Amino acid sequence: MNQNRRNILKTTIVAGVGYGLGMFTQSKLQNKQQTLPSSIINDAFSGCSDLPFYKTNPQYSVNFPTLTNSTECDVCIVGGGLTGLSTALHLANTNLKVLLIEKNTIASGASGMNGGQILNSYECDMEFLEDKFGLSVAKEFWNLSLLGIDIIKKNIEKYNINCGINMGSSIVAFNNKHYAELQEKYNTLKGNYQYNNLHSACRK
Ligand SMILES: Cc1cc2nc3c(=O)[nH]c(=O)nc-3n(C[C@H](O)[C@H](O)[C@H](O)COP(=O)(O)OP(=O)(O)OC[C@H]3O[C@@H](n4cnc5c(N)ncnc54)[C@H](O)[C@@H]3O)c2cc1C
Repeated sequence: MNQNRRNILKTTIVAGVGYGLGMFTQSKLQNKQQTLPSSIINDAFSGCSDLPFYKTNPQYSVNFPTLTNSTECDVCIVGGGLTGLSTALHLANTNLKVLLIEKNTIASGASGMNGGQILNSYECDMEFLEDKFGLSVAKEFWNLSLLGIDIIKKNIEKYNINCGINMGSSIVAFNNKHYAELQEKYNTLKGNYQYNNLHSACRK
């Protein structure tokens, strides 16, 4: 394996871990303590340190050289966040010579400070995409977001990323109106997208 390929793999592992675990800092813990019951806090944040997981584990430490002179490559990618790293990995796997340039350190942007939740769907509602592009295109978007999760899972397995992945999430309504909205989204995803991985529960 050449050095470039090795570097890309290493960076992807770092991003994968950053993505999988996110960054739980003491300051976040303190903020949350103001609003959440202490038992939940203790469970969720036990054993957390000030630093992201990948920065406290020597096996994921990376140290890349500064680019000092001109070089040749098939594709040059600017930015070592999830987008750049994922693109670099996919292209490198097709035997292209890829150069990834990062102005700070790998995952120094949003990718190294996110919540680490692997969720499908988009920033906007599926209804928005349906209105804009029609149901069949919206379905393609939906399937792509599911594919994204598969890619993450496969990468974790393929590159043996020991990040304690856990699947599943819950969205909790904070009032009746919100509950009705969630119920509507639930019905949309079940009906229009035949998505059956959702469970709805209501505590009266
Ligand atoms: C607080 C927070 C929580 C989040 N939680 C989640 C979550 O739980 N789940 C989820 O899926 N998503 C979450 N996200 C969103 C997710 O983190 C981002 O969508 C994702 O990290 C974006 O990746 P990116 O590679 O596009 O951008 P970035 O990670 O920001 O990467 C861009 C990189 O480009 C570099 N760069 C910029 N300009 C240049 C230049 N001129 N030359 C060289 N390098 C340059 C930057 O230094 C940076 O490293 C969260 C985001 C935030 C901010």
